Amino acid sequence: MFVLTVGAVAFGCDMLSMLLLPIESLQTELWEALATAVITSVALSSVGLPLLARIQRRAFDAEKAIDSTDDGYWVLDSLGNFLDVNDAYCRMMGYERARLMTLSIADLESVATQAQIQQQIARIVAKGQERFETRHRHYHGHWVDLEITVTAINAHRLVAFLRDITRRKGSERRIQELAYFDSLTGLPNRHSLRDRIGQALLRSETTRYFGALLFVDLDNFKLINDTSGHAEGDRMLVEMAKRLGRSVREGDTVARMGGDEFVILMESLSHEPDMAGQLAWAIGEQCRLSLDEIFTLGDIEFRASASFGLALFQGAGLSSGELLKRADTAMYQAKATGRNRVVLFEQQMQQALTLRAQMEADLRRALHEQQLQLYYQPQVDARHRVTGAEVLLRWQHPERGLVRPLDFIPIAEESGLILPIGAWVLESACRQLEVWQGHAATRDLQLAVNVSVQQFSHPDFVEDLTALLARHRFSPDLLKLELTESLVIRQLETVIARMHAIRALGVLLSMDDFGTGQASLASLRRIPIHQLKIDQAFVRELSDQPQDVAITAAIITLGETLGLEVIAEGVETEAQRGILESIGCHRYQGYLFSPPVPLAQYQSLVFAAAGLDMEAAGTLEWVGRRDSYSGNTHASQA
Ligand code: C2E
Ligand code: MG
Ligand code: MG
Repeated sequence: MFVLTVGAVAFGCDMLSMLLLPIESLQTELWEALATAVITSVALSSVGLPLLARIQRRAFDAEKAIDSTDDGYWVLDSLGNFLDVNDAYCRMMGYERARLMTLSIADLESVATQAQIQQQIARIVAKGQERFETRHRHYHGHWVDLEITVTAINAHRLVAFLRDITRRKGSERRIQELAYFDSLTGLPNRHSLRDRIGQALLRSETTRYFGALLFVDLDNFKLINDTSGHAEGDRMLVEMAKRLGRSVREGDTVARMGGDEFVILMESLSHEPDMAGQLAWAIGEQCRLSLDEIFTLGDIEFRASASFGLALFQGAGLSSGELLKRADTAMYQAKATGRNRVVLFEQQMQQALTLRAQMEADLRRALHEQQLQLYYQPQVDARHRVTGAEVLLRWQHPERGLVRPLDFIPIAEESGLILPIGAWVLESACRQLEVWQGHAATRDLQLAVNVSVQQFSHPDFVEDLTALLARHRFSPDLLKLELTESLVIRQLETVIARMHAIRALGVLLSMDDFGTGQASLASLRRIPIHQLKIDQAFVRELSDQPQDVAITAAIITLGETLGLEVIAEGVETEAQRGILESIGCHRYQGYLFSPPVPLAQYQSLVFAAAGLDMEAAGTLEWVGRRDSYSGNTHASQA
């Protein structure tokens, strides 16, 4: 009978080494207790020493195996106190064995309380075994992720094998981060934002608190990226993320949607829609102001404004997609109404957006269906002689009639259509200049062409311009490109280099709407422009009051100091012209002389001014394909 027991123990031990130490068999304490009992009994019985030695060796083997494995091992009593631990667990946790033996599992557990541990032990005892993941605190304070299998030997003894899975957990967390967080800014990404909005909507359904989404989009980020490079663009976004984070309340979520778009989720604003709207708007304003402060990228300092769209929600009536669309729509409205502002979503904006989409589709067609036209507005010198014209786009819409540039240029810029449209304008202007070479009255006329920032920033711009000049025969200084201050306020080397390349072609550069932007004096000195064009806002203000004249006079003096030609636009009255003349501006453009008019009318005007036959003017139009024109022979005879 006794031998049978010993046999069973010996068999269990063989199983141990064979099956990589299954839990029950490896219960050292149990094994030792049994072995001791056996040894004592055997020593007292007649079975003899060989068996005793075998049992002793196996007890020793099991203990050695437990201590040499990389897996941790411990034995607990029903209160969670350690009864035994192996070397691997001591190493994992950074403790001396003796110290660990004075602790209970609750001292190391990260999540469970003593009571919960007690419950868990009871559960394991009832079930027999449980497998789970947890974290124990290392002696040095950090967490160790563990995968544990606990087996209840009886109601008072639990044996566990555990594996350190910190590395695996780390990479799982990393993958999680990549899936849910933006790697550049560390902010929640689009994916995670949608989840959070979903949860916020559900919470709002219960609390009936209003919340809000604030859509943020940098004005002109593409330009920064294109001109300063992506690394600087990235730095800008990181800085932007920080500023937004500092501007919101604790608990608000700032997420990056991608590119230069950020979204802020605000909850628990108020139960009152007005209050909620005001609070959200105030937070939006704070964000706006934080971005409006100077950014320093390398040696360049500039302000980066952004447009903000705000949409409120209460309850879970709207989907997160619908809500985002609303905030996005309001953001578009902010862009359309001058940028650098916060706009709250209103129902009619949806209609405006639909209309805008329609306009974009129409504009796409307009270019091919020849609905775009160029109007010419005379520019005159001190003696009121026409020196040339500014070409201004007009769109003859099949249903809407004549559409003004301010109503479609922004759409063209946002949709990228400005590139083909701008190329068409430039091509048409060059073709016209070539046609005018055929007549003495038109030969010296200059044409000023508006060039959008996006167009100018395109990598092929100078190359295309060079090819264009090669295709058309006229002196390049008859072509003048009007650029806006927004392009040069950043004082970017690429912009300056490009301007020099254009000047090297012989083409002139004019600074349009001067005085409305933020071009610094230092930047003006560095850019090779030929002309300053005083914005019409200053001209409109001119009166016999000295203070109204002061700014314009200062601009003119500035132009003179820099050796630039100065022209005033928007000159509507003789009084304005007189004042301009008295403060040193001798070139004008405005309704006083003529509004923008179609080509034939402009030519008539030029011919009439030269005392020439108006009929001849009509024949100066380009009638053929790109590579041919007619009328110049006739015209030159006139
Ligand atoms: P801009 O380049 O500053 O053009 C001057 C604007 O002032 C023109 O408006 C012109 O019609 C208007 N104007 C001229 N004289 C007077 C005046 O005496 N009084 C008043 N109140 N206005 C006057 P328009 O034609 O509506 O063009 C608006 C803007 O659209 C232009 O401003 C320019 O920025 C843009 N634009 C026009 N054509 C083009 C183009 O071909 N390409 C690009 N990129 N932009 C264009
Ligand atoms: Mg202009
Ligand atoms: Mg202008």
